[in-house]
Amino acid sequence: MKSKKLRVAVVLVVLAVPAYWWLLVESGSPQGTFALKLTELRTLANSLPGEKPELIRVEEVLEFEFPNTAIVAGSGWSFGKLPVFSYQLVFADRTIVVDTAMDEATARGASRYDGEAFGRVSAALEKASLIVVTHEHGDHLGGWATHPKLSQLAPGITDEQLADPSKRAPLIIPEGALANRKPFTYEHATAVAPGVVLLRAPGHTPGSQLIYVQRKDGEEFLLLGDVSWHQANYEQVRERARLVTQFFLGEDREAVLRQLAAIKAVAAAEPKLHVMPGHDGVAMKRLLEAGLMTPRFAP
Ligand SMILES: [Zn+2]
Repeated sequence: MKSKKLRVAVVLVVLAVPAYWWLLVESGSPQGTFALKLTELRTLANSLPGEKPELIRVEEVLEFEFPNTAIVAGSGWSFGKLPVFSYQLVFADRTIVVDTAMDEATARGASRYDGEAFGRVSAALEKASLIVVTHEHGDHLGGWATHPKLSQLAPGITDEQLADPSKRAPLIIPEGALANRKPFTYEHATAVAPGVVLLRAPGHTPGSQLIYVQRKDGEEFLLLGDVSWHQANYEQVRERARLVTQFFLGEDREAVLRQLAAIKAVAAAEPKLHVMPGHDGVAMKRLLEAGLMTPRFAP
């Protein structure tokens, strides 16, 4: 009897070790390539007449904390921070908001929430001439989807980002709020304003896109959204733990790995390009300290 229990225990351990490795440690390697050509993004950024943005302002609205292995597979059980940002591209005569953070009610589980920062994001959404998001998850789309004047806000959310309501759960867009919305989609890449280019990058979600910004002074930025939560994801070409991507996000891991490899390559080839991952407080601190991003939205 005793030896039977022991055999069962041994079998469970033998099964648990590879399961642990597979779900929490192993990242996988990219197969194939993702087309990320800076020359193409630069050409598109200069394809529209008019002045490019002068400043990129940023609000940090809230923060989540996850075990590091959930963020970068195999990086241990200490907790890592995932601050949530909203960006305001400031032109001479208008503004564009990129990513809208989320309202406090939707931000369940956040370790920190700044209501005043979200108030400034909400106010900026009303003034923006265009609103774009890197993808359709609640921490990027939420400020837009829950906005009291949603039906009056500027366009910019893509058809792909609205196609699957389960991706934005628990956010619910009120019935009729988008009745007057015109369809918006594009193939591969498109300029939406002078110096602002969207590049389709489905994988983390079907509506994921990278956002390239070239400022008036020539400084270049690549906003990665949640293709890469932290800089380590693309630097090490390591995905989130499979437990997270398979069971919580329903992500196309292969596509994300290809994108991470392409981002790593472009970051190495273009050291002056400011690459900003979706939720990396260290990368943001560096940009703020260098004066490349400006704290707080314009009043
Ligand atoms: Zn996110």
